[in-house]
Amino acid sequence: MLKRFFSYYKPHKKLFAADFSCAVFVGLLELGFPLAVSWFIDTLLPEGNWQAITWVSFLLLFLYLTSTSLQYVVNYWGHKLGINIETDMRQELFEHVQRQSFSFFDNTKTGHIMSRITNDLFDIGEMAHHGPEDLFIAIMTFIGAFWIMLTINVKLALIAIIVVPFLIWLITYANIKMNTAWKAMYGNIAEVNARVEDSVSGARVVQSFTNEKHEIKRFTTDNRHYRQTKVGAYKVMAFSLSGMYIMTRLIVLVVLVFGAYLSLNNELTYGELVAFVLYINVLFKPIDKISALLEMYPKGMAGFRRFTDLLDQAPVITDRPDAKVVDHLEGEIEFDHVSFSYDDQKGVLSDISLKLNRGETVAFVGPSGAGKTTICSLIPRFYDVKEGAIKIDGIDIRDMTKESLRSQIGIVQQDVFLFTGTLRENIAYGKLDATEEEVMEAAKKANLQSVVDGLPLGYNTQIGERGLKLSGGQKQRIAIARMFLKDPSILILDEATSALDTETEAMIQGAIEELAKGRTTLVIAHRLATIRKADRVVVVTEEGIAEDGTHAELLEKDGIFANLHRVQYEQV
Ligand code: ADP
Ligand code: MG
Repeated sequence: MLKRFFSYYKPHKKLFAADFSCAVFVGLLELGFPLAVSWFIDTLLPEGNWQAITWVSFLLLFLYLTSTSLQYVVNYWGHKLGINIETDMRQELFEHVQRQSFSFFDNTKTGHIMSRITNDLFDIGEMAHHGPEDLFIAIMTFIGAFWIMLTINVKLALIAIIVVPFLIWLITYANIKMNTAWKAMYGNIAEVNARVEDSVSGARVVQSFTNEKHEIKRFTTDNRHYRQTKVGAYKVMAFSLSGMYIMTRLIVLVVLVFGAYLSLNNELTYGELVAFVLYINVLFKPIDKISALLEMYPKGMAGFRRFTDLLDQAPVITDRPDAKVVDHLEGEIEFDHVSFSYDDQKGVLSDISLKLNRGETVAFVGPSGAGKTTICSLIPRFYDVKEGAIKIDGIDIRDMTKESLRSQIGIVQQDVFLFTGTLRENIAYGKLDATEEEVMEAAKKANLQSVVDGLPLGYNTQIGERGLKLSGGQKQRIAIARMFLKDPSILILDEATSALDTETEAMIQGAIEELAKGRTTLVIAHRLATIRKADRVVVVTEEGIAEDGTHAELLEKDGIFANLHRVQYEQV
């Protein structure tokens, strides 16, 4: 795990080396200053040589300035290193998620991916920067300071170090307490967030039930919990900070008193005593740093593990090494003894055989859950068949590259997803390099012109928040316009107009018929009026394909379709 973590430093080797060496230099300077002060008091001062004192002061000033600029560099480069690593990881994760297959999105919560791409990576970035650097510097200064103290005076050094185990105990205790408190706090803030998200996206439901007070009550509870845990964490923090403060001050006092005694017995010079007091600070600072690391490391590592878990989920649908790029498909589709299930338990399709001729419009009808959508999802390889094969123009779709296959299949569903952006951008999603004329042409063919004219900024109108400002029929027309731009050989209309009222549907129908021309088209619909113009009707039930033929043939057969026909037209 650590080895994999460090592999992310590779592209930034130079930055890391530069940052690290500067940090080591800062540490060394910090170790040297008290010695310089001690020499100043013991040697320079008694000599009373003002010129020497001035020179040494300037030297010290120079060293202080050097140390300061080095610290600036360490802070800047170090964080830059952390951010670089964080950005690399975020990029890798996003690209990885883009490559994932449908089954991945079926099983992964959006919120989880989001928190990995944001929070987790932030924690990892912090650890990447502070981890190795701070640990090394802390150990170096601690050992260095203690060693110098020992060489100055063994007895006094031992006295100063007595407090260290207590400090470590205090810090560890506080850390454990704080970790629990932070964890609880993260849980509670997640609850608060979930509540906000729920009641905002469900605001319409809340208000229609006039349940605002209920929502506020539930939110208040969660909000208070969050406050409680966070206050608890700060209480522990305040306690440990005070504890550390008193311990370090007391030890300075003890060192001062005992040092005074030693110095009266001529075992210690004044300069050495001052150096000692200064070294106590150098000695305790790393402990602080290490304790911060103790908090950062488990958090960062946990985040890194979640990151690699996601990264190690290989995409299920991939190109075969010898996959062909198919430039233009005629659109003859054949299901050859196809069986499929989403998980390995319950089969959804078993042994389906079906042939769609090029340019034909085939309607799929049947009860909900029969597998109509599933049949359509197999054609662009959103999922792979478990048995059998699907061929287009006689070629197994698994022998084509995913990209070339999908570029020739267009899908319009009931829910049209609109991206945040302008109307033009949303139409052009069907062909990213479409010219202005092409977009206008497609919009005209999709009967969008009247919609565009009604918008304040026309094509430049922002369609915010999932196109909330557009009606179902308008969104559907955008989807159709996208298809005109994409110009696929195969078109799938999966209940594209089911959510619309019959009047709106009739308005769009013309555009859809225009779109279907010259393409092999699969139409799924419940309303039989929608599929009146289909060349063929396939009835899908849970048992498989029950009926297959023209309208006339199926009515003649007097089976499921004929029955459906009777029910719907008698109702009307
Ligand atoms: P239809 O479109 O005919 O209403 P579907 O093809 O959507 O039917 O669904 C067929 C069966 O597969 C149903 O039992 C449904 O619960 C199941 N199913 C659909 N999508 C998924 C999925 N993503 N994961 C698991 N099961 C699914
Ligand atoms: Mg469906």
